[in-house]
Amino acid sequence: MRSELLSTLICLNCGSGQMKLASTMSDDREVREGSVQCRHCEAQYSITNGIVDMLGEPPDWIAKEQQGWLTLLGEPAPALAEQMLLLPYLPDPHWQEHAGNFNEIIDRIDLHDAAVLDVGSGRTWSARWLKRRGARQVVACDVLRAKYIGLETADIFMEADNIFFERVLCDMERLPFASGSYDVIFTTASLHHANDLTRAFTEIARVLRSNGRAFIINEPVRRLRSPVNMHGNLEIEVGINEHIYTIDEWLKAVKKAGLRPQLLLPDAVIRSVKQQKPTQFILENNQVNYLPWINILGRHIMGLQSVLVRVYQNHAIPLMLIAHKC
Ligand SMILES: [Zn+2]
Repeated sequence: MRSELLSTLICLNCGSGQMKLASTMSDDREVREGSVQCRHCEAQYSITNGIVDMLGEPPDWIAKEQQGWLTLLGEPAPALAEQMLLLPYLPDPHWQEHAGNFNEIIDRIDLHDAAVLDVGSGRTWSARWLKRRGARQVVACDVLRAKYIGLETADIFMEADNIFFERVLCDMERLPFASGSYDVIFTTASLHHANDLTRAFTEIARVLRSNGRAFIINEPVRRLRSPVNMHGNLEIEVGINEHIYTIDEWLKAVKKAGLRPQLLLPDAVIRSVKQQKPTQFILENNQVNYLPWINILGRHIMGLQSVLVRVYQNHAIPLMLIAHKC
């Protein structure tokens, strides 16, 4: 953690923005060990491996989530560090879909001089790319700390690229940042892990500056007609919080938080429209979902929000959404 973060960090105990930084070990990049203390109520938040812990004793659902991801990770394979450096550009269909959507959205984000919060950053590959693409400040936050699943993975990226971004351990439903702190909020495949989606969006809306935008991609979306069938979902079996909301539920949560939603189509759909080919998605418990109607859906109506809502209602495609703060 660097001292610049103090200008946006707030105490979760009393809400004060008057925080001070104490270092017991620093390197040429940041404070690696130390603490942040609230000047007002004296609450103390530890810094370990450069990560400031604004989570403390987590609620049950977060503790389960953390344990679940550790179970899925198991014993890290030696090749994992190299694989991290390739993220999100890994050669399997799941990651190719995520990477395509990431490429599609990042070109739409004005990163020049921007302060960016990456919510539910996990392994922090997205924070890395947002920094590399020119953001002034990037803060990655997540409930996961461990290397290869959580914020400690950032050390691999910062070392390899000689870049810096902040890492904050915290609950996305209780962000430890002052209101209006960020120009851009980015999330990929993380909001569906929230315990309370509306609360997560309300926090996003709060920390976003006016006229700021939140970019939400790669979240699962459930078709209106498909049942909530989460059996056989490995993540749920190990205790991870998984929700597959319908598009109407997503939009409702965004609007309830006071943000204006703008739907986009996933990269693969856009490409298939350009190429006049049907496309397929592997989502919802590995069911394959085709979009055979794509030939009749001309590009000229692709921007219409009412059309996009219908597309999301009827096809399980990953969410691509911009939420505007007015
Ligand atoms: Zn305090």
